[in-house]
Amino acid sequence: MSGRKDIGKIRNIGIMAHIDAGKTTTTERILFYTGKTHRIGEVDDGAATMDWMDQEKERGITITSAATTCYWSNHEINIIDTPGHVDFTIEVERSLRVLDGAVALFCAVGAVEPQSETVWFQADKYRVPRIAYINKLDRLGADYYGTIKQMNEKFVTKCRPIQIPDGEGEFFGGVIDLIDMKYRTYDDESLGAKFTDKAIPDKLVEKAGQAREELLDTISDFDDELMEKLLQEKPVEKIDILRAIRRGVIDCNFVPVLCGSSLRNIGIQHLLDYIVAFLPAPGDLPPVEGQSPDGRKTLVRKADPDEPVTALAFKIATDPHAGKLCYVRFYAGEIKQGAYMLNPSSGIKERVGRILRLHSNKRTDVKSATAGDIVGIIGFRKTSTGDTLCDPKKPIQLKLMQFPEPVISVAIEPKTQSDLEKMTDVLGRLADEDPTFQVKVNEDTGQLIISGMGELHLDVVVNRMIREFNLRANVGKPQVAYKETITQSVETEGKFIRKTGDKGQYGHVKIRVEPIESNILMEFQSSINGSIIPREYINFVEKGIRQSMTNGVIAGYPLTGLRVTLTGGSYNEIDSTELAYEIAASMALEDAAKKAKPVVLEPVMKVEVVCPETFMGNVVGDINLRRGKISGMIPRNNLQVITAVVPLAEMFGYATALRNLTQGRGIYTMQYSRYAPLPDEISSKMFSNSMFA
Ligand code: GDP
Ligand code: MG
Repeated sequence: MSGRKDIGKIRNIGIMAHIDAGKTTTTERILFYTGKTHRIGEVDDGAATMDWMDQEKERGITITSAATTCYWSNHEINIIDTPGHVDFTIEVERSLRVLDGAVALFCAVGAVEPQSETVWFQADKYRVPRIAYINKLDRLGADYYGTIKQMNEKFVTKCRPIQIPDGEGEFFGGVIDLIDMKYRTYDDESLGAKFTDKAIPDKLVEKAGQAREELLDTISDFDDELMEKLLQEKPVEKIDILRAIRRGVIDCNFVPVLCGSSLRNIGIQHLLDYIVAFLPAPGDLPPVEGQSPDGRKTLVRKADPDEPVTALAFKIATDPHAGKLCYVRFYAGEIKQGAYMLNPSSGIKERVGRILRLHSNKRTDVKSATAGDIVGIIGFRKTSTGDTLCDPKKPIQLKLMQFPEPVISVAIEPKTQSDLEKMTDVLGRLADEDPTFQVKVNEDTGQLIISGMGELHLDVVVNRMIREFNLRANVGKPQVAYKETITQSVETEGKFIRKTGDKGQYGHVKIRVEPIESNILMEFQSSINGSIIPREYINFVEKGIRQSMTNGVIAGYPLTGLRVTLTGGSYNEIDSTELAYEIAASMALEDAAKKAKPVVLEPVMKVEVVCPETFMGNVVGDINLRRGKISGMIPRNNLQVITAVVPLAEMFGYATALRNLTQGRGIYTMQYSRYAPLPDEISSKMFSNSMFA
């Protein structure tokens, strides 16, 4: 249809990287060369445009994923800034969900660091096509080929250079492009905006020729036409190469590797060209899938403005001035400002008050949004992160986002007691934005408890409260979020029978409870027919079980990892009630948990320490004292990389400890791995007044 946007010209991308690899620096250059900013904001002087939250400027890291739009050779590129710190993996996951392609950014010195690996595997999970950009070729110790080698050792997808550097470290002079077979150098004075393409220098002609041959050989697997040309030794055109690589990238079989130095303004224009050339437009990917709201039918929506409106709210930002801003990815259809969209989770129709195109902290109002767009919407009242928004007449429910449960919590109280109400309200709003952050009131002490994915995560939340809402707080010591599970299968029953006057209470259930993987909260099933317990009560049996699971039997921690099967029970025509089945099921589960050898679970973390070899003994000894298990020790560029799994409870204050152990030369990263049973001797000491005393 004329006047409509060409969806083929949209690229929704993210830049994924280890912290400090240069994502912000690179994004700044992209915004500069695409004409969105007039000066380059340097991370180091805290002026970067993308890091719009004050706190991020101070920390020099990007915490929230701001969406920003820019334009390059007639294409619209929407960039979602994804964070690199592992405490915020949820931000990475949620961005991956709405992206069509990604730039995987590596540092030529650090190569494939553990967090880059994690993010890469997350991108594999969502089948996100990607291209790789190896940054910091100018740094001492830069190793382009070594980094590519590591990528191919660690990743399944083939990663091959489509560019090679002229020199590395202080000798890095420019980039040889193997598709154009040209040598590009950059002009310092224009901050790299001007560049020159020349013939490849003599000393590199042979190397470039060889690398190109290897490239063609690999990518001919993705394109028959190219394969034929090579076999018949016919000339290969640029468009053959672009087509073959694009196919390989979109099918997730191939990752082309580029090089540059963002800080020195080298390589960015190529990166933009190849984002457009290789990463998919929304319509190049399989159509989005969902279900009818009753869960009975699978529905498919193509990236087409004429399909019914289908969108996903992937982030909520609370702005002290504008109110609630909802970041929305449109998969299908077209919506105009002022129209209504249905949120099938809440059943509410939400009004599209304003539609905004976002450029980090600047916003422009637009009249409509269509398939493929990523925009901000103001006006939604009851929509949270992960909710679907759709055409009220053609409802669809997209796949739910899965968020990990918090692993750490602290008690928090306002410095001035009169602020308590405001604090409760602000924390609630922040929890709306971030599904991995939770707020609860401890029923015994009345204290406010906040929980999240790590010390830094909670630190950031508390700091936002201070800065944006002017609320000062006292914060307690961090506590690990323990859970409980069972280790045996048991069968048991629960009865709730009361006879009072005409109408009493009658609920009676038999259940079997078995242990399953602790990452799954509970699976409920029923193996009985309606003559034993009528169907309408079954939901209440499940409800009672879920309620009972919030308080474990050892120390009151929530239960996880159970499969519960309703195997029997009975029914009374006069006295049976929903409440009676709820209570009976609740009692049955508590009894089962006591009998099924319950254990306490604690979160364990994957830890990686990098330090000079001389300190290895210190580090390993210390990890052992922290109940850690060493899983690997390998050398990397004169340094040792030690990997281990260590209980989170033993990792508080590790940054300081590691500094002391290594004279400040060691660094570490850590991320949540899983829940594991707490050893008996610790459990019995900690919970001595529990049922095992
Ligand atoms: P992010 O954490 O991935 O966003 O990384 P930043 O963009 O904040 O960069 C981290 C640090 O690396 C900053 O001090 C940058 O100046 C520096 N840096 C980024 N790109 C380059 C580069 O190409 N060469 C060199 N030498 N330093 C760089
Ligand atoms: Mg950054």
